Amino acid sequence: DQTLNSWEARADANSFYGFTDLPTIKERGTTVLTHGKGAYVYDVHGREFLDANSGLWNMVAGFDHPGLIAAAKAQYDRFPGYHAFFGRMSDQTVMLSEKLVEVSPFARGKVFYTNSGSEANDTMVKMLWFLGGAEGKPQRRKILTRTNGYHGVTAVSASMTGKPYNSVFGLPLDGFIHLSCPHYWRFGKDGETETQFTARMAAELEETILREGADTIAGFFAEPVMGAGGVIPPSAGYFQAVQPILKKYGIPLIADEVITGFGRTGATWGCQTYDFIPDAIISSKNLTAGFFPMGAVILGPELTDRLQAAADAIEEFPHGFTASGHPVGCAIALKAIDVVMNEGLAENVRTLTPLFEEGLKRLSEKKNIGEWRGKGLMGALEAVADKDTKRPFDGSLSVSERIANACTDQGLICRPLGQAVVLCPPFIFTPSDMDKMFDRLEKALDGVFAEVA
Ligand code: PLP
Repeated sequence: DQTLNSWEARADANSFYGFTDLPTIKERGTTVLTHGKGAYVYDVHGREFLDANSGLWNMVAGFDHPGLIAAAKAQYDRFPGYHAFFGRMSDQTVMLSEKLVEVSPFARGKVFYTNSGSEANDTMVKMLWFLGGAEGKPQRRKILTRTNGYHGVTAVSASMTGKPYNSVFGLPLDGFIHLSCPHYWRFGKDGETETQFTARMAAELEETILREGADTIAGFFAEPVMGAGGVIPPSAGYFQAVQPILKKYGIPLIADEVITGFGRTGATWGCQTYDFIPDAIISSKNLTAGFFPMGAVILGPELTDRLQAAADAIEEFPHGFTASGHPVGCAIALKAIDVVMNEGLAENVRTLTPLFEEGLKRLSEKKNIGEWRGKGLMGALEAVADKDTKRPFDGSLSVSERIANACTDQGLICRPLGQAVVLCPPFIFTPSDMDKMFDRLEKALDGVFAEVA
């Protein structure tokens, strides 16, 4: 078949893509990649792209880190696979759990492994449900999350995700409640100060708890900085305002650090950047620097004790995945944590952040950029039709997608999310990569704004 003579046609013929906006992808065409080097990836035609999104936020050490590849090879040679059921687990799993508790903000804790961030959130929800069931009390089942929060795609984690597209699946499931998105620039009312806005977010939380009944609510999940919602840092004082309310009603606060963990926001954890200690942390993505699919639930002391007691009461926690605590994944994660924390990558995030912010700020002066925002090395530029009124472009123009497509033409991969263009560079970025990224993005912005504005 002549129509199937290219890699792109073969991809389109046999791969059913997820999260692909068909009209804009059709316009741009599929890109088939063969390899990566540093922060760059290459396609079947030898074209080079600077990946300013670290793959899917996760390839923080770049695409060819020799230490990570060596760790993977060594572990494949030694013990290429095992599970963590029936009281057996690999030595790598033991060492990674020790390391994760050590680098967590918790004085002590326990770790449970999954294959993805979605499954880690799913697991955490099941743990919270399990508490009531195994303690012989009425279950607290409702889960609180926020509009624009992203927590994954399994039936439960998609229910937690606060995006309208879930309705085509008939989701959310019952009992998943989405609070407001704490994005002051977009959702602050006329004349409302940021402090008042944060107080309104907290009041909404308490009203919701009282309306639903505190003893029906199992937990509150939040990303320290919303990622797939469009890189949305919380309004000032947000976590300091909501945490005391959650404590008052005995509702655990779970930090979904799938993107913000391991240095992305400057500190090891996003919760440290925003100065709060949650009851548990959800980790994935940069946990293995994207070199292995793996997620983890890291429980703080109180949930550790309650879950252990609940499991002891029925002599089991009946949950786990075949590849939970996979030895190769654990060996890679141990190396990734070492590379990020001890080989200068986390430090590089802190060093590059002022340069990153400067670039975002500079581009935000353009007529059709309403806001720049970000924390550490995750940032966004929000496109607007009118800067003064913050009026967005007509959605049918797909402005952010056109910008992302124009970036691809310039050899830059970035991500359109809503009306924002998102940048989340790998931690190995150099100042020269940073310049290249902003130059290419500026060309793309100018080209698209000239067409639509
Ligand atoms: N939680 C957050 C904050 C995420 O950003 C993501 C993925 O982007 C997930 C959970 C889901 O992770 P996964 O795609 O590995 O299932």
